[in-house]
Amino acid sequence: MSARVLVVEDEEALTLLLRYNLEAEGYEVDCVARGDEAELRILEQAPDLAILDWMLPGLSGIELCRRIRAREATRALPIIMLTARGEEGDRVRGLATGADDYVVKPFSLPEFVARVQALLRRSRPSLLATTLAAGDIELDRESRRVRRAGQELHLGPTEFRLLEFLMQSPGRVFTREQLLDNVWGRNVYIDERTVDVHVGRLRKALNVQDGHDPIRTVRGAGYSFEEQEPARA
Ligand code: CA
Repeated sequence: MSARVLVVEDEEALTLLLRYNLEAEGYEVDCVARGDEAELRILEQAPDLAILDWMLPGLSGIELCRRIRAREATRALPIIMLTARGEEGDRVRGLATGADDYVVKPFSLPEFVARVQALLRRSRPSLLATTLAAGDIELDRESRRVRRAGQELHLGPTEFRLLEFLMQSPGRVFTREQLLDNVWGRNVYIDERTVDVHVGRLRKALNVQDGHDPIRTVRGAGYSFEEQEPARA
């Protein structure tokens, strides 16, 4: 599963260039030209990284950055700020609002892509890792293989993506809707009970031995991946 990058930029030519170059690196890219629209998009579904232009119609990049940082759910969202101005004062102001990195236009695209990669590596190492491991479970993204205690497990493609997504954020509870959006795709309209069916299959495939069930059902909320067996009371 690739990282999702949201580009918030009102210069169409630059947006196209960024989209092209980031997609070439395997990122899923979403572009928005207005700050207020970007805020709604982020509330709806937070990306893995946001690129914010400083001057935007609707809501400035600075204000958007401030609001993202003020909200509990998006506080840690990695942000790169773009600006046409290069003055030191602005640079400091950009970082003071909470952006993780700051790039002055015009910039070299290979360098920019490298910065995106570096920031993602720092903030979400699991997104770029080839192998995800938790407890006795190991998932290899390249060969698309899953092993438990060294034994190979056979998962269907949906179960594989579901496990991959859950293993990226151990301990975090995802609603069925979030799982549908992230594993099946945002524009797919299927019943939320489909999630339960696939979680059931994933559990069955994972729990071949006596190991603990790593998929936790949170009543009224959804599912999470737990690395450790919870302590018994
Ligand atoms: Ca602009």
